Amino acid sequence: MIYFDNSATTPVHPEVVEAMLPYLNEIFGNPASKYYAQAEKAKTAVEEARLHVANLLGGQPDEVVFTSGSTESNNFVLKGIADYYPGAHIITTKAEHPSIIETAEYLAAKGEQVTFLDVDQYARIDLEDLRNTILNSTSDTILVSIIWGNNEVGSLNDIEAISKLCHELRSKERTILLHTDATQVVGKVPVDLSNSGVNLLSCSSHKLHGPKGIGACIIRKHKSGTKIKMTPLIHGGDQETGYRSGTLSVHNIVGFGKAAEIALRDFEEVQAHLTRLENYLVEELTSKLPSSLVHFNNDFQNKIPGIVNVRFQRINNEVLLRKLSPHVALSTGSACSSSKPSHVLQGMGLTLDDVRSSVRISMSKVNTVEDVDAFIRLLTS
Ligand code: PMP
Repeated sequence: MIYFDNSATTPVHPEVVEAMLPYLNEIFGNPASKYYAQAEKAKTAVEEARLHVANLLGGQPDEVVFTSGSTESNNFVLKGIADYYPGAHIITTKAEHPSIIETAEYLAAKGEQVTFLDVDQYARIDLEDLRNTILNSTSDTILVSIIWGNNEVGSLNDIEAISKLCHELRSKERTILLHTDATQVVGKVPVDLSNSGVNLLSCSSHKLHGPKGIGACIIRKHKSGTKIKMTPLIHGGDQETGYRSGTLSVHNIVGFGKAAEIALRDFEEVQAHLTRLENYLVEELTSKLPSSLVHFNNDFQNKIPGIVNVRFQRINNEVLLRKLSPHVALSTGSACSSSKPSHVLQGMGLTLDDVRSSVRISMSKVNTVEDVDAFIRLLTS
């Protein structure tokens, strides 16, 4: 089986599984308990993992809030900020993951002011559009939430330029917080929060060869040390400095930490490998299949390496995926909205016919040139 659905999830790294096992066996203590070795060891392991996640992102360990994944982090940011600053304006885009779109629509239905920015033909926002939306808003913009790298076509938004704009338009009366959903970029594109104006970031362990059901919301402190105020999504025993209660999932956190450590260690190698594989796949699709059949939906500049979104003209994507499924795992887009035609591709201006013939091929460090060769053979046989 060729696994080409790594944007949906990635295989867990064997070193990650090994690191997790003791915390499912002998070290089962609750890290919030005190004094006895079981609990202290669990707490030490959680703090070590927190450091690895912070190092991967260029943040501080006390800025890492563990969540169940990016869906929760995204819900937390939007609902938590909207609840703390009722009536303030939230800006997002039409090419976000459903965990942002649906949450923003929920808030809009409850009477919050939400704007969904249009995107261009490659799913990127326009900076001037963002500037005008902030300046023309009837109430102060409190939050701008923009996906860093798109999960369907891989296009990167210019998060640094967006962050500069948010800073430029900030004033005494207007605090504009910038959140980014970085789920697909972490481990594949350099992320350095120490040099960035991003205030909040969502990421997920299972996209970087860690376990599912664990992720983080990075909540940056102000230079003065003050913390961003937002209402928790989950109230309870005050874990995660009150931002997210609930007994910590120690084995998952340890796995996430190990995956982050490996992602940082192997970053350059993985980036180069994915770029090589992507170039090879595109060359092979272009040279081995008729040009009238193959059209790429990607902009190959400024993208996450390893995500190729291709239209096989006049071939229904569901029919193709089902036919190939005994041999290749592919998808039509986000696994979280796979029953609907992609809102991202529609937002990019593709017709419904084009959307229904589009397939996402997403690769990871475990894919090989041989996988690409076998895939091309299947398509051409
Ligand atoms: N945002 C993006 C861009 C994603 O690709 C995903 C996963 N499909 C999510 C959020 C949700 O992440 P999780 O599975 O950790 O809830």
